[in-house]
Amino acid sequence: MRAVDVIQRKRDGQELSREEIDFLVDGYAQGRIPDYQASAFAMAVFFRGMTPAETLALTESMMRTGEVLDFRDLPGPKADKHSTGGVGDKTSLVLAPLAAACGVYVPMISGRGLGHTGGTLDKLEAIPGFRVGLSLAEFRDVLRRSHLGLIGQTPEIAPADRKLYALRDVTATVESRPLIAASIMSKKMAEGIDALVLDVKTGDGAFMKSLADSKALAETMVEIGRGMGRKVAALITDMEQPLGFAVGNALEVAECLETLKGRGPKDLESLSLELAAWMLHLGGLTATLDAARARVRDALDSGKGLRKFREIVELQGGDPRVCDDPQVLPRARETVAITAEKDSRVTGIGCRAVGQAAMLLGAGRETVDSVIDPAVGLVLHKKVGDLVIAGEALVTLHVNDREHLDEARALIKEAVRLGPEAPARTRLIHHVIS
Ligand code: URA
Repeated sequence: MRAVDVIQRKRDGQELSREEIDFLVDGYAQGRIPDYQASAFAMAVFFRGMTPAETLALTESMMRTGEVLDFRDLPGPKADKHSTGGVGDKTSLVLAPLAAACGVYVPMISGRGLGHTGGTLDKLEAIPGFRVGLSLAEFRDVLRRSHLGLIGQTPEIAPADRKLYALRDVTATVESRPLIAASIMSKKMAEGIDALVLDVKTGDGAFMKSLADSKALAETMVEIGRGMGRKVAALITDMEQPLGFAVGNALEVAECLETLKGRGPKDLESLSLELAAWMLHLGGLTATLDAARARVRDALDSGKGLRKFREIVELQGGDPRVCDDPQVLPRARETVAITAEKDSRVTGIGCRAVGQAAMLLGAGRETVDSVIDPAVGLVLHKKVGDLVIAGEALVTLHVNDREHLDEARALIKEAVRLGPEAPARTRLIHHVIS
């Protein structure tokens, strides 16, 4: 078999066999196929797409280039959640301890933030001492002891995807549905889970802006999961405004802790509860979704979720006092308020611009190598539809370095749109594919 022939067949719109896909993926992972041929292949897929059978084969092939974790010896369902990424999207830190407290094993392997979106690992690292770089043996051990483990991508998991994703990033081939779906699912399916809940974001702050594109991506991923014998559901959720109020790593951890204490923002609380309920239900812990919702709600109300969070912080080397006192988290040197000029209603909050403002302050990465500041970011004081009074604070910026302050402030002023009337309410969960 020759790589050039396989690329040509894809270029001409033919369906590739599993053997052809394995040949390309293994060859690329092992260095036999060079970057230029892998780029040409990615571009051919970008234009020609892939059939469901090809997408499944690509996912399995990329997964098998690395280690596939096996937690079958752990006596209970293993489930995880994956989000396609958003602004203020911090549900993992709330739902993972809730689901674990209800008896699900949650082996969560997360990513870092890039561009305007945040990442779970950066938030966890805002907790003093918290180690996300556990070895796979340590990961297994904390998972067995506490039903929960929170780590970063390891080189052992789907190395072909790591290599291909870096290549796609510089060859304008990221925005391809089969490539995105196979990339995400190859990593998630390597986690040794029985069930996966996908939170596919839609709207201004999301990767997929339209509901139709978000649904199509969700359907492709659900189909891959089923093809691999896992229980998978996808919730298409709103990213037309940030989730909760806080954007920035330590600020988001503090908001998650408030949520685990029952005092969090309603949107963050309800989405976290719903995603956790799906994890229980797909994991087979309850006969109905309603029963799962009741169990997760009880874990929140009884404080079991917060106790589980404390346990995992301690097990992974973090300072557990963070659960009682948010002052333990890093804090920015100064805060700068952005206020409303007249009485009005919030008619929109440009999510992408809010994420970019937080990034400019140092909370996010412009490139994969940028260093982030865990303390900085911003806190919104209003959500879409809220009434504001002249002089009232709309957003507070948490600042350490003033270099990009004016730019961040200008972005926020543009992002928070004010008008005379509240717009129609949008739903937090647009659609469920199960
Ligand atoms: N996230 C991934 O892991 N892969 C993609 O291709 C896109 C987003």
